[in-house]
Formats: sequence, structure tokens, C-alpha cells
Amino acid sequence: MWIAAHQLRNALGGAELTKSDFRVPRYATVDLAGRTIESIQSRGKHLLWRMSGGLTLHTHFKMDGAWELYRPSQRWRSPVHEARAILHTRDWVAVAFRMPVLDLIPTAEEKGVVGHLGPDVLGDDWDPGEAVKRLRARHPACIGEALLDQSALAGVGNVYKCEICWLRGVDPWTPVGDVAGLDRLVDLTKRVMEANRHRLRRSTTGDHRPGRTHYVYGRYRRPCFRCGTSICRQGDGIQRVTYWCPTCQARRVVPAPDHAGVDEGQA
Ligand SMILES: [Zn+2]
Repeated sequence: MWIAAHQLRNALGGAELTKSDFRVPRYATVDLAGRTIESIQSRGKHLLWRMSGGLTLHTHFKMDGAWELYRPSQRWRSPVHEARAILHTRDWVAVAFRMPVLDLIPTAEEKGVVGHLGPDVLGDDWDPGEAVKRLRARHPACIGEALLDQSALAGVGNVYKCEICWLRGVDPWTPVGDVAGLDRLVDLTKRVMEANRHRLRRSTTGDHRPGRTHYVYGRYRRPCFRCGTSICRQGDGIQRVTYWCPTCQARRVVPAPDHAGVDEGQA
């Protein structure tokens, strides 16, 4: 996702559109020729193309959509009939394929579509303090769920969720408010995702050999790299499967406030 925004920004940022072609009925007659692409911002899976004249093209990838970038004479990799929007500049053609969400909105109304999102881990406006605050506000949700909540942090997927919890030695089902060092967990999330920003194949371990790219994700019943315990797995589907090491990520029992320090300096 970030790679796409980055490549689009490098190729098209500041360029003038020479032609546009929307293949969705409600924008069939829209013509953006003459407008300048002022910026291309990513927020989670949302992409915001800010054009001159206060207009924003908003797209959302969901599971399948993609922006592809071509030279004008180049052959497209995806089928032509799946194109939803085609933006031409002098040097490039950007094509949105199978894009489930594609809207033209006044730039002033962007908050209506992305305002609910938390700070984007790889965004230009990353704000760790705000991310910690938003995570903490998810209590009593567990840290695993809270990390996937895009209104807390935008951009964290299930693989990172599992890996970050292991790296911090946190049981993914720990209520957010009981997680020690939430600020360090947020910093680590940023560092791990940043390190993978330009990589084609993700590795949270820094090791690219097969079977060594992740600490727990996809390693059900394999020995933990740190302690040798078999990795556990719970949940269905791709989105919600949690992998963890029951030894390295043992639940820490936090005493309830009622039991803490009752005999000290009271009475
Ligand atoms: Zn372990």
C-alpha cells in the first residue's frame, strides 16, 4: 500500500493531468484535464489525490483494488475491462483497477471519509503520542484487537499485530490498559513497519531465508526462536488468526487497585 502511494507520488506529484477517463457511470462525463496533482496522501488503505481547484479523488483498496503506473506506450498488466479510472500526465498513465471505492469530493470534506482513522504508521503525519492515546482509549479491548482497529492506528495488519506482540512479550489478549510500555510498543510498531517499507517481501526478523521471516506468524507448532515452545494459533480466516508463544507471551497478572498497597502508609 505505502509503496504504491510512494511510487505514485514520485511519478505524478506536481504534474498536470492531460486527460482523465472514469469508467464508473456517475463520473463518466467528468474531465480533470488541466488540473495539477498537488499531493497524494495515504491513510491506511485510503488514497487521497489532492488536485488543484480544491478537488480530491478518494479511493479505497479493500482487498483487491490496485493503482498501477505505466508509461504511455506500455502494455497494462491487468485486464482493460477492470480499469475504473485512468489518469494521464505527459509522462505517465495511472490506472485504478477493480477499485471498490472511488469518489470525487471537495478537498475540504476529506475528514468525512478519513477523519475517523488514527495516525497512519507510515504516513507523513505520524503522531506516536496520539496513537498511544487512541490505543489506550480502546480499553478494555485486548491489545491484539486494538492494534487492528484503524481508528486507533491506521495501517497495522494481522501479521504485524502478531509479530509486535511477540517482540514485546505481550499476550495478545491482554486488555490494553494492562499492557506495560504502550509507548514502546507503538515505537516498535513504527520501526518494524518502517524497516519493511521498501521491501518486496516482508520480514519482521530481518532474516529473509524461507521459514525465518517471522517470529510467530504462520509458524503454528514450530518451535519459538527464543524459547523453543511450540507456537500456538487461534481464530479463523486470514484476518483474525492469532499466533503467539505461550511462554514468551505469558499473561501477566495485574493486581486490581483494591489490592495494591493497602497496608502502606494508610491509617
Ligand atoms: Zn517463546
